[in-house]
Amino acid sequence: MAHTASLSQLQKPPWALVNGQLVRYEDVRIHISAEALTRALSVFEGLKGYWSQSGEVFAVREPRRHFERLCRSAALLQIPIDFTYEEFLAGLRTLAEHLLDPDRDLWFRPTLYVTQGHWGEGTRADLVVTEFSQQKDDPDPMRLGVSTWRRSPDVALPSRVKCSANYVVARLARIEARRLGYDDALLLNDFGRVAEATGACVLIADRRGIATPPTSECCLDSITVDVLERAALDLGLPFERRPIERTELLSADECGVAGTISELTLVTEVDGFHYSQAGVLSRLRQRYLELMRGDGERLGVDLVPLVLRPDGYWSAPDAPAAASDGTSTDFAQLNASA
Ligand code: PMP
Repeated sequence: MAHTASLSQLQKPPWALVNGQLVRYEDVRIHISAEALTRALSVFEGLKGYWSQSGEVFAVREPRRHFERLCRSAALLQIPIDFTYEEFLAGLRTLAEHLLDPDRDLWFRPTLYVTQGHWGEGTRADLVVTEFSQQKDDPDPMRLGVSTWRRSPDVALPSRVKCSANYVVARLARIEARRLGYDDALLLNDFGRVAEATGACVLIADRRGIATPPTSECCLDSITVDVLERAALDLGLPFERRPIERTELLSADECGVAGTISELTLVTEVDGFHYSQAGVLSRLRQRYLELMRGDGERLGVDLVPLVLRPDGYWSAPDAPAAASDGTSTDFAQLNASA
């Protein structure tokens, strides 16, 4: 199967949710002068919902952690948030009810776009949630190249802030990697140590156990890595967060990338250095998927049910007559302030 990370955004679902209202996907609007566009001011999250093994429960993984990270990203960029966790969750549920397919999982992308304000004054943002279906099959292992592009340091563009601007360099790295024949890229930090992949964190395994760089090495504070750490310790596998040098990466026995959408995708090769596909990371990957399909609560993974079909039957509610574009943008104010 191709990598879902690159396919999900190419879908055009019928609905999006804008400030809590269902809006036809093609009708969602943003003004050309919104700071989301002029100064790249948007923060976002990527959550995944899974059907349980029995097919009776569709649950989203760790939504509160994602909500809190969205709030933290917004606060660090001085973007006010005017919705609660309960409203955030209700929005995910509404959209899931309209877009869910019993044979596919879903990836949710809540994005907070700055639609009003000017250089920090009068800032307002719209919360737009889009959802994309995901095949249940395992993604293929990946071949990666170390990019010539680097993750920016915390004092320039903090990787802890999940904002669109952080993906400008990630995009350049991916384009470079694809040009060289790889599936994706790994970025080093300013010190030349491993930071992360373009949309996932990096794990290696060697005789000492599993290791991943801490957030202070310029990677996102990954929710998936936290779940994998718990799962690894539960399996009796040592798991460490420590800086990883480039040569340590290249000489590791195993390598993988971890993120909500990547789950734990195994890496076959980085820059011509090859990794085993049958070691602890492959065991961990299997365990992670079992946890996501309903076994997670035993390890304290927060799987919040959004849709139930106890008798195996479920159909989407009637679609509303969505007339509005749902946005809070005051276009007259934007034209005046751009
Ligand atoms: N790093 C980057 C740059 C990412 O985009 C992601 C995906 N959100 C991750 C790491 C993994 O984070 P998480 O496990 O919370 O999805």
